[in-house]
Amino acid sequence: MRTLIKSGTVVTASDQYRGDVLIEDETVVLIGTAIDVQADKVIDASAKYVLPGGIDVHTHLDMPFGGTKSADDFESGTIAAAFGGTTSIVDFAIQYRGQTLHDAWETWMKKAEGKAVVDYGFHMIITDLSDQVEGEMDALVGQGVTSFKLFMAYPGVFMLDDGSIFRALLRTGKNGGTICMHAENGGVIDVLVRRALAEGQTAPKYHALTRPARAEAEATHRAIALAEMADVPIYIVHLSAAEALEMVTEARDRGLSAYAETCPQYLFLSYDNYEEPGFAGAKYVMSPPLRAKAAQDQLWRGLAFNDLQAVSTDHCPFCMKEQKELGVADFSKIPNGAPGIETRMSLVYDGGVRAGRISLNRFVELTSTSPAKIFGLFPRKGTIAPGSDADVVVFDPNRTITLSARTLHMKVDYNPYEGRHVTGAADTVLSRGRPVIENGQFVGRAGAGSFIKRAGRS
Ligand SMILES: [Zn+2]
Repeated sequence: MRTLIKSGTVVTASDQYRGDVLIEDETVVLIGTAIDVQADKVIDASAKYVLPGGIDVHTHLDMPFGGTKSADDFESGTIAAAFGGTTSIVDFAIQYRGQTLHDAWETWMKKAEGKAVVDYGFHMIITDLSDQVEGEMDALVGQGVTSFKLFMAYPGVFMLDDGSIFRALLRTGKNGGTICMHAENGGVIDVLVRRALAEGQTAPKYHALTRPARAEAEATHRAIALAEMADVPIYIVHLSAAEALEMVTEARDRGLSAYAETCPQYLFLSYDNYEEPGFAGAKYVMSPPLRAKAAQDQLWRGLAFNDLQAVSTDHCPFCMKEQKELGVADFSKIPNGAPGIETRMSLVYDGGVRAGRISLNRFVELTSTSPAKIFGLFPRKGTIAPGSDADVVVFDPNRTITLSARTLHMKVDYNPYEGRHVTGAADTVLSRGRPVIENGQFVGRAGAGSFIKRAGRS
């Protein structure tokens, strides 16, 4: 099967040129200015960008939370991802207390098998680091699960103490894995939550008011310090606060391998959304919470100057009806999370490139290349080059779409950006050479996505 993408503008993290891209089966084989070969399928990309498929390294599909589960499974979630121009995801498998990492991994592999329409990998969430589990980390790295997420929040559920975190960090120094950190001071937050509830402060906005920016900054600083003492890199997930970004910037200025991602919700939404009438603020209940509007400019600056290396989504949708509603009388019972897997590329293109905050190359780097490099997917994914997987997006920089729960494909009954117009959208999406989206239609197949065995740090 030969596919020829003709006359587009090929954009990678470093280049931009008019060219044709030839794909054989699952792989990019040739890039040229006027490729003249017989192809089974020709895609006209004139006036369009030809981009490496988006990589979203932070999703939670089919994830249990507080007696319910996230509204998208691996089928609906990856279909929505593809519509938005994302062709690889890295989701999170959760090790519950007493469970082996292997069992946890198998559980999540079963959730994805036969369902995912694009490729997927897993980070492993460790909640219980016994000596035996610590040993298992090496085996997981060998099996392509090369990153581990730890929590400094949610005491009694997910949180690890500093000693355990330090042991896990040291282990990755030997096995080539990477630690991803949820950096919020869980002890402080729990006290603030209990105090608010005791005072009858139950509305959604108290979710944000009990999770101060300084609690994120303190944990970010501590996480980086622990990694510095272990002499290993660290990756901070879903960084939201300007105060936390300062900690990352300071560490990077000292030459440390501290990496961090932010998410579109922190770039486009703010604390003000919690003040929406009635229970509407619950739409935005996520951790960390939305911050003061002033933080948005700081985060964009961090993205532009490489203090932040990736934009991922933390896609974790819960419907307002029956799910978010669980917390109608108590904000601490509102399932944490919001939808975003489908809207990331268009939002960051519109608010980043079109608004002049980041370059087109930087857009590709933040949404694909850099996460691919950090998480062991590059150069198989994250660029368009001979030998790379043909995960390719034909992106129309001039098409305007209106974000709405009615027209998007995530299985959730609201959208945090409802009614927002964004310009720049994926037209055609290929996953390893197979069309997944064409002319606004899903043409892929459940189960066509494969588990990606990721490389560790060498
Ligand atoms: Zn998350």
